[in-house]
Amino acid sequence: MFYCENCNLQNQTNRCAKCGRKNLRQVQAEDFCFFRRLPANKAENLKATLEAKGIGCALLPYGTGLRSRVGMKLEDCLVFVQYHGLAYVEDLFLQEENAKMQALLQAIQPNVGKLHVLPKDEKHIRRKLRMHPTEDLLELCKSVVLSANKVFDGGEISYELQDEECFNPDAVLGHYCCLSNGQHEVWLNSVSMRVYKVVKI
Ligand SMILES: [Zn+2]
Repeated sequence: MFYCENCNLQNQTNRCAKCGRKNLRQVQAEDFCFFRRLPANKAENLKATLEAKGIGCALLPYGTGLRSRVGMKLEDCLVFVQYHGLAYVEDLFLQEENAKMQALLQAIQPNVGKLHVLPKDEKHIRRKLRMHPTEDLLELCKSVVLSANKVFDGGEISYELQDEECFNPDAVLGHYCCLSNGQHEVWLNSVSMRVYKVVKI
């Protein structure tokens, strides 16, 4: 593994994938390598966790100049981790993401009976998937949800996007979730279980 001092980036070859610099040196255990961009509070927690384990971590605030000029707290940080701790932190994040994914699946799958599609969405989805009129869209969605091996949180459903079933301003709006079984993706509201979109992969 090689290291670019311009970019603080580890590289597979001796040419930097980001800036193109050539003849990179071998990476050293102490070199700070780019890990990822994280929200500032999460980045600060991670830094404390890593430093307690003897792994150096450096944070670089990341945001627009305007935000910092008006004195607002920058939202994100670029996180750099010493090369010797990189495998550890990558594993830490993988475990965390897997745990989140499992929790989301376990919250959604028992509610599979509540899955529904509004008629206007059904028409659109059927056309996109070129479904035969005898094929059951809801059955397809159920089977994708129950056999899903990947799920991600698409973020909170905003009031602007809420639909007719959520006229009540106190209604829990839920999150958009996308579940995939490798063949189809089903996008739904994790609370109402309304299906918005189905995509063939
Ligand atoms: Zn570079």
